[in-house]
Formats: sequence, structure tokens, C-alpha cells
Amino acid sequence: MSSVITYSRNVFLPLTFVCRNSCGYCIFRRPPGDGCVLSPDEVLQILRRGAEAGCTEALFTFGERPEEVDGFLPFLEQFGYSSILEYCHAMAEEALRIGLLPHTNAGVMTADEMKYLSDVNASMGLMLETTADIPAHRNCLGKEPGRRIAMIEDAGRLKIPFTTGILLGIGETPSDRRQSLQVIADLHKKYGHIQEIIIQNFCPKPGTEMSAFPGASLRDMQETVRMAKEILPPDIAIQIPPNLADAEKILPCGVTDLGGISPVTIDYVNPEHPWPAFDELAALTKGYTLQERLCIYPQFIRKGWYHDKIRDRIISLENTIHMRGSSVIPAKPLYEGKAKSVYTSENPDELIVVFRNDMTAFNGVKHDLFTDKGRLNATASEFFMKMLEAEGIKTHYIRMSAPDKMIVRRLEMIPLEVIVRNVAAGSMTKKYPVAEGTVLDWPVVTIDYKDDERGDPMINDDLIQVLHILTGDELTQVKKIALLVNTVLTRFFDECGICLVDFKLEFGKAGGNIFLGDEISMDSMRLWDKETGESFDKDVYRFDKGDVITAYRNVLKRIIPEFSL
Ligand code: C5P
Repeated sequence: MSSVITYSRNVFLPLTFVCRNSCGYCIFRRPPGDGCVLSPDEVLQILRRGAEAGCTEALFTFGERPEEVDGFLPFLEQFGYSSILEYCHAMAEEALRIGLLPHTNAGVMTADEMKYLSDVNASMGLMLETTADIPAHRNCLGKEPGRRIAMIEDAGRLKIPFTTGILLGIGETPSDRRQSLQVIADLHKKYGHIQEIIIQNFCPKPGTEMSAFPGASLRDMQETVRMAKEILPPDIAIQIPPNLADAEKILPCGVTDLGGISPVTIDYVNPEHPWPAFDELAALTKGYTLQERLCIYPQFIRKGWYHDKIRDRIISLENTIHMRGSSVIPAKPLYEGKAKSVYTSENPDELIVVFRNDMTAFNGVKHDLFTDKGRLNATASEFFMKMLEAEGIKTHYIRMSAPDKMIVRRLEMIPLEVIVRNVAAGSMTKKYPVAEGTVLDWPVVTIDYKDDERGDPMINDDLIQVLHILTGDELTQVKKIALLVNTVLTRFFDECGICLVDFKLEFGKAGGNIFLGDEISMDSMRLWDKETGESFDKDVYRFDKGDVITAYRNVLKRIIPEFSL
């Protein structure tokens, strides 16, 4: 498989251009004056345009502690805010409401200030720039390396997924670069919070103190990316900005991310360098797998390093980028289930099933997101559907179009959940006097009427027929298939050291035939280790028994040893 290069779709919101620092290379900074603060209306407009263009990140980057600059406050106060961080908090709330995840880089902040912003930000950032004392930072209180390192450390203590980086060509030496990277690596080893490091080449700007500086060369960039790869732990992404650097020539040195790219706003720090369009990006990364990400990286989503307030937004945006992923699908699903979405395709007889990463339990009372879950369940489902087809059982499976997307035959679904039980567990032990783990004398088929609002009540043969859900013959056929599936799967799982406790099937009709539809995955079966009794299925999530993704991977390792995790 080719290496993955990630990027995020963002909008850039420079809340203010006023800054207490005065760096020798900067053209972002402006003195207080008309337009030095982006008005709430302007912010909302950018956010809405971003949401319409499919962006997922609202990047709030602005001057550091502008309140320390004489004459600034009245420009902010006219909008009803007394500090830039208060304004940022309010605008981040708007971003979440409109559908984007905020990432704030406000320059140096105290731990309390970061904590204040953390309930509305998915991640935060601060460029370390360099650990060296350089003339370019002579007039910059906030660029003192010790202060920046202290803030990055505070972010680690607060468990804030963090972005930092170094700036190349501002007067630092290669050994300063090494030292800066080492400091970041050490902080990450201590707190595990650095998600990405930006290796940014300084581009000299006319009219600045450093306009005659040469900036960083292509070689500097290549060598520093290699250095970063050697020094940094592998879970930190190495990012270069594709609007400033020659990405094609630097990617092979170890780059894994291209940062935030905007279809809507410019790079206000480097306004003379436009972002590549998304199709240019695809050309730049030819030979790699280009993958969209959020401004909070998957490992931090998995660890739950975010505030409850932004959880739903993370879940829905994860699904958005997941579905935009590798194959082309229509904008709106035909049907949205609890863990899968179904789309029409160009062929009217075929549908696309997307196995999503979110998981629900107890009729939606629990709802969480697990990166990679979609692919794991899709892989298991494909494996079992093929196995059953080989045994002569008709299924809806046609082929996979991506690791998490299955092309299936279009069926008219039957609103029944057909459950086969070999061992007593789950609802059976709640409803009837039987202890969990009791091996049943023979496999039992129970059928529920599929209707969330009615709580999926159990239904019987007479009801199924008088409600015209199935004829008597069809019902007999469905039960026969369910028991045959049980025989095939029980035998197979037994050989893998797993006990198939129970599972659920759904059926549909096409051309007068009954097909097995839906999925056969760790979400729809109860699987216990034969030796230890350990659960490898959705019960791990339902009852907080451990890491559900590890459990699902355990199943795949046993059933498909060659499957790449
Ligand atoms: O909850 P209960 O014990 O009735 O579930 C029996 C089996 O059916 C379990 O393997 C469960 O995962 C599966 N099931 C399902 N979807 C449902 C209900 C049950 O996959 N809506």
C-alpha cells in the first residue's frame, strides 16, 4: 500500500492583525486601526462559506496579546468583547454551531487561558519556531523560547492535542533545528500530546527587516524533514505547507501531512502564496494515498481528548470525511442506519453500503466514534458473505469498492431481525430464567419486529403472517437459511477458538428470491473466546469491557490471519 499523506480542509480566521510582537520577517502584523479586528459578521460569513465548501476546520490564528498594544481595545469593544480570547471563544462556539471544528493559535497563552478555550477547540497550536535566540525575535516578548516551551508543556498537562513547528531560515543554524526538534520530541515523550510538527520555510517579504534574507532552501527543507523523521516519535505527523514549499520534492523525505488547506480563505501569514486547489493537491501527491483528516488527529479522538461539548461535531465530521474518502458517492444517503449509510449508485439494481466509524448501543443512548471500525466490520462482513455464498446461501454482497464500502444488490428489506442463539446471553437472560453462558439444547431462532420507536418487539409466526410481512413458506425459508448460516459460522468460529454465542440476520427480497442482507460483523454477533470467555464483540462497547477496536482486531486476526491491521 502507498504511504498516506493527510490534510485538513479549513478556513483561516485572522481575528485580529494587531500583535504585541514585532518579528523581523512578519507582514501579518498591523497597528490598531479600522479593520484591525474581523467583525462577527465577517467571521460568520467565512464560517458559512467554509461549511458550504465542505471545510471541517475553523483555524483561528491571530496576533498575540493585542490588548497590550495601545489603542487596540476600542476596536474590539465595539463588538461587545473585552479580550481577544473572549471573542475567540464566542466565535469558536459559532464555528461549532455552523459545522466546523475550531483550532486556535493565539500565540503564547497561560494554562488557564488554554483551559478556557479548550471546551470549544478540538486542538490548539503554537509554533516553537526555534529554541535559539535570534535577532529576528529581538522585539518579541512572546517569542522567548522558554515561554513557548512552557506553554507547549502546559498544553500537555491539560491533554490538549497540540500542533507545533519550527520555522526555517530565520537565522537559526542546523544544530538549532536539531535542538528544537529534540525539545518537542522530549515534551511529547512526557505528555503524548503533539499531533503534528510543521516544518515551515520562511519566505522573505519585501518591506520587512529581513527582506534580503535568503529564506530556507529546498535542501534545508529536505534535510530538516529527514532530521525530524529521525528525532520525532513516529506518532507525530510531519507537516510541510504546500503553498510555500516544493512538496513534490520534499514528500519522499518523510512528510506525512500537508496541513490545513482552504478552498475559501487565503493564507494571511503568507498572502502572496495561494493554496493549491484540491485537484492540484492530488497531482502533487501522486503515488501516495491522499487522505482528509480533522484538526484533531484520530489517535486523540480514540483517546477521548476532547470536551463533551464538541463530541457530536467530531463524530459527524469524522463521518463526513470518511464518506468523502476513497470512492465517489452521492451527497445524500438513501438510508442512514445506526452504523451504516446506504447510497444509490449508477446501477439502479446496486447500492453502496458505507460502514461508518460511529457506534451506538441501547437504541442510541450510547453513541461514540471509533477510527477504523468501519473498515474492520466491512472486512468481516465481506469475508462471511463470501463464505456463505460458497455454501449456496444467497446474499446481497457483490463486491467491495473501498475497504469500508460494499456494493450490494438492491433489496426490498423485510422489517425483521432474525436472531439465532446457541448460548444464553443478552436479552434472553434478562427476559427468561436462564443464566448467562448456559449452552442451549439446540439453536434457538427468535424474531424481532424491526422498529426503533416500538423498541423492536419480539414477534411470532402468526403475527408475521397476519401482518403480511412474510408468507408461511417464506418464513420457513428464512428460518432454514438462519439455521444453515448458524451451522456454517459455528463450525468456522470453533476452528478459530471462538464460541459463536448468538447473532442477528436481516433479509430482503429481489426478483422473487430471499437474500441475506445487512451485515455479519462484530457489531451483529456475540463472540467469546473459547478458553477465557473474553468478549470480542459489541458487548465490549455496550458494557465498557475494554477497547472495542482491539477486540474487533482480535477477531480479524483469528479469522483472516493475513489481514493487514
Ligand atoms: O440483545 P440481544 O441479546 O437480543 O442480541 C442478540 C444478538 O443479536 C447479539 O449478537 C446482538 O449483537 C445482535 N443484535 C443486533 N442488532 C440488534 C439486536 C441484536 O445485531 N438490533
